[in-house]
Amino acid sequence: MKDENTPEYLKARLSECEQRFKAIFSLTSAATKIIDHNLTIIEVNDALVELLGYSSTEICGTKIMQYACEEYKDSWKELQTAMWEHGKPNFKIDVCLKKKDGSLVWIHITTIAFTSSGKKYAYTVLDDFTYLKEFEESQKRLKMSLEYSKMAVWELDFDNGNIIHSGGLPQILGLNGERKVLKQLDLISSFISEDRDAFKQVLASVSPGVHLDFSGRVASFSGEIKWVNLQGKTGEGPSQKMVMLGTAQDITKEKLADRYKDDFISIASHELKTPITVLSGTLQLMDRTDQNKSAKLSKLITLANQSMKKVNDLIADLLNASKMTQGQLHLNITDFNITQAVEECCAHIDRDGQYHLLIEGDAELNIHADSDRIQQVIVNFVNNAIKYAPNEKNIRIRATDEGDRIRIAVIDSGPGIDAEKSTHLFDRYYRVDSEGSQYSGLGLGLYISSEIVKKHKGEIGVTSKMGEGSQFWFTLPK
Ligand code: ADP
Repeated sequence: MKDENTPEYLKARLSECEQRFKAIFSLTSAATKIIDHNLTIIEVNDALVELLGYSSTEICGTKIMQYACEEYKDSWKELQTAMWEHGKPNFKIDVCLKKKDGSLVWIHITTIAFTSSGKKYAYTVLDDFTYLKEFEESQKRLKMSLEYSKMAVWELDFDNGNIIHSGGLPQILGLNGERKVLKQLDLISSFISEDRDAFKQVLASVSPGVHLDFSGRVASFSGEIKWVNLQGKTGEGPSQKMVMLGTAQDITKEKLADRYKDDFISIASHELKTPITVLSGTLQLMDRTDQNKSAKLSKLITLANQSMKKVNDLIADLLNASKMTQGQLHLNITDFNITQAVEECCAHIDRDGQYHLLIEGDAELNIHADSDRIQQVIVNFVNNAIKYAPNEKNIRIRATDEGDRIRIAVIDSGPGIDAEKSTHLFDRYYRVDSEGSQYSGLGLGLYISSEIVKKHKGEIGVTSKMGEGSQFWFTLPK
């Protein structure tokens, strides 16, 4: 057995310990350095070299303070003095250091004093928390932008119905502002009874990847009604839970502005209707009374009539759209044959001789709907097919029986519509190429069609491929 007190044994043990320390010092993933009493760096490990971007020969012999950002130097120096001059055994401080490439890193510093061969040294661990600092900064920026945009963010956990939030969600929803955690039920019941069921339905139909976009009314404590828009997307949260991440925004002002705009359009189009009717009548009278008019006058009257028809159609669209937005669409439901209805409403197409109507599918199909309104949808699809795909001379209309519903489609082989844009086609005033469009229009036809179909509890949509054409369709329950 070895004598553990012999100088040889103790020397060997000491050298073993030193080697172990050196191995740990150089291989540890935490950046570390050793400084002497002049605060001069005498040793650094690879992690510190990597952290600052200087080589070890560049760092050794320098003072750590020269890498520090100005605002941290004084407090760091005070702690150094307390340790080196007043015997404090260690200190901790968070500082910012400048790397060789000029970028900044945020570091937790832990410095511990130790003595070796009678001399004082200090061992420092530098723990990089830049990612946390950047996260905090981006949180701050997000908070500021949320405050600025008057928007709140929220996350709904479908498992327990808890909603964590920031940016004043309770205030937006008209709830008590102090509440830190909201429940799914609070969110639902914040909407007034008229909008609550619609929101419940939207929430119940969400599935992964599906976007939620709901606007509804909430009542504040004082009873004031506000409009709120909720946007959200479902996905997997921590521990594979299904969550919905979203934003909430008070859109009362926008809704009010929309209402003023709608009111203006409604009043203006009503006011325009009477003089336009008088003008139309006058033109017809002129046409009929003067049988001996010149060819030039005849041509002018025809041109004026064509323009009058366009103005009439535009005013009709505006009036129809106002009616729909004000919920004033009333249906007059009857049973009728779809082929007859199509032939009736699209008679102008074959009559003009330029285009030919092809009715495909089940000619015997009867439907139970408001005939005038359904004809309005079909005419709109057909007129669009002519307008946007003018080179195709055949207009195909296909009616199919799909069991519990009937499907009507108008098919063209025109330019087609970009998939991204086709999701907005049925929005009010939406036009695919609103600025550069060579075709005139208000972007209301498809909106009106969609409101009519929805009122019938049917569905409306488009299947389209760029360069190959479009198929505008709608279904009606039987
Ligand atoms: P408008 O024709 O007055 O612009 P609509 O609501 O009828 O309004 O149509 C909206 C937009 O949809 C149009 O501006 C057009 O860009 C696009 N669109 C409609 N039908 C077709 C079609 N058959 N082919 C290509 N684009 C179409």
